[in-house]
Amino acid sequence: MRILLIEDHPPLAEAVGDALHRAGFAVDHAASADTAREMARAASYALMILDLGLPDADGLTLLPVLRAGGRVPVIVLTARDRLSDRLAGLDGGADDYVVKPVEMPELVARCRAVLRRPGDRSPSLLSLGPLELDTATRSASVQGRPLRLGRREVTVLEHLMRAAGRVAPRRALEDAVYGFDEEVGPNAIEASVSRLRRALDAAGCPTPIVTVRGLGWMLPRGEDP
Ligand code: CA
Repeated sequence: MRILLIEDHPPLAEAVGDALHRAGFAVDHAASADTAREMARAASYALMILDLGLPDADGLTLLPVLRAGGRVPVIVLTARDRLSDRLAGLDGGADDYVVKPVEMPELVARCRAVLRRPGDRSPSLLSLGPLELDTATRSASVQGRPLRLGRREVTVLEHLMRAAGRVAPRRALEDAVYGFDEEVGPNAIEASVSRLRRALDAAGCPTPIVTVRGLGWMLPRGEDP
């Protein structure tokens, strides 16, 4: 899943970006309200993290703009810990509020919680036959035996499992796995799919990843192998 991080303080942006990467998210970073507006228009995000103290605007004024394209959850990030500011953030349409200094595990947990809220059709445990993936802990297993997968492979697996029985388009996988600023070779996504395929084979997973030439990849459902 792809997150837009709007934060102007470079060390904090880097630390938050690293923590989210390790948790399996693709992260795009905007250091100003202007950049954030452009990025929110250009791509679709599962979640946005918004610092209120930006150099060119108060983050609160940005909330309705970011929201204009649809119902994307927003977690507000700020040093202002006074109650009135919290309420203004929530009234302004924020889904959650994290006060600086940011504890990374807490922020990551809140991201997951916001992404899991009612109405979201993404349960944290996905299963397909003997193959299981816990999207909260980013751990996958076949018949209870854990799979050792890298961050990108877990993200690819999550997409394939959510789309089980349908083709997961190449472009959707690339969007989920890579941020804007990552250099992506033409065959990078193939490499991730290959590593995932080998790991599933080695674990004795009976469901093969099917290549749908020119479109993407698919995990067939049990009933139509
Ligand atoms: Ca700031």
